[in-house]
Amino acid sequence: MEWFRRWRRARVLKQGELDPALWQATVERYPFVIELGADELERLRELVILFLHEKPVHGAGGMRVRDEVRVAIAAQACILILNLGLDYYRGWVEVIVYPDEFVAEYDYVDEAGVTHHVEEAMTGESWERGPVILSWADAQEAGRGHGYNVVIHEFAHKLDMLNGEPNGLPPLHADMERSRWADAFAAAYEDFCRRVDAGERVGIDDYAAESPAEFFAVMSETFFESPLTVRAAYPEVYVQLSRFYRQDPAARAVAGGVAAAAPAA
Ligand SMILES: [Zn+2]
Repeated sequence: MEWFRRWRRARVLKQGELDPALWQATVERYPFVIELGADELERLRELVILFLHEKPVHGAGGMRVRDEVRVAIAAQACILILNLGLDYYRGWVEVIVYPDEFVAEYDYVDEAGVTHHVEEAMTGESWERGPVILSWADAQEAGRGHGYNVVIHEFAHKLDMLNGEPNGLPPLHADMERSRWADAFAAAYEDFCRRVDAGERVGIDDYAAESPAEFFAVMSETFFESPLTVRAAYPEVYVQLSRFYRQDPAARAVAGGVAAAAPAA
């Protein structure tokens, strides 16, 4: 059904509309979007139209989802797949947005076989083959230069889940080597955990120390939000992420910084 999906997407694009003023405001809101070249930006705009056609964004907990919210979430979700394609988000459909942190409830069985019921405040959550759930209050912390981005974080988990339970190893491309990925990430993860234990700050969210899956998600959000930080702290991880996402945001940030500084000179 590949031809049919392509035909349908071409039709959606032909009829699809995105308010130009809203799109422009969204582009200007996020440094990692405004730094894109003209071709990339147009490709992102098309992906956003397709994303919003295929993935309904619903409010929960009293959240009224305006177009501004929809487009902001879609733009950030699609930056990850700019050079991968929308099929990387196959197998699930819905995005749910709460106004603020929400409570996740789940049961787990401990080593003694006792079942515990847990309620935990969350800023975002991704379900395997299920929805992406986000706190809008936390999503608004994105693009402020401190590397934090809950939307990119949750959608990175989605990519990690393409080959089963999230473990920090998404399906790599044919021209990538699993051993290189594993070497780069394992060494960086070990170093990062040591630094967190020692109370050292490297400009990457401590939450990355939680597990290899969280490390991949946090490194992905930092890769887009603050790429020079990742490149400086863990150059091998930067190379692997750059090959996986097929993007070089550090180069864009440097070029954007130069362009931004030019008028003042
Ligand atoms: Zn996470």
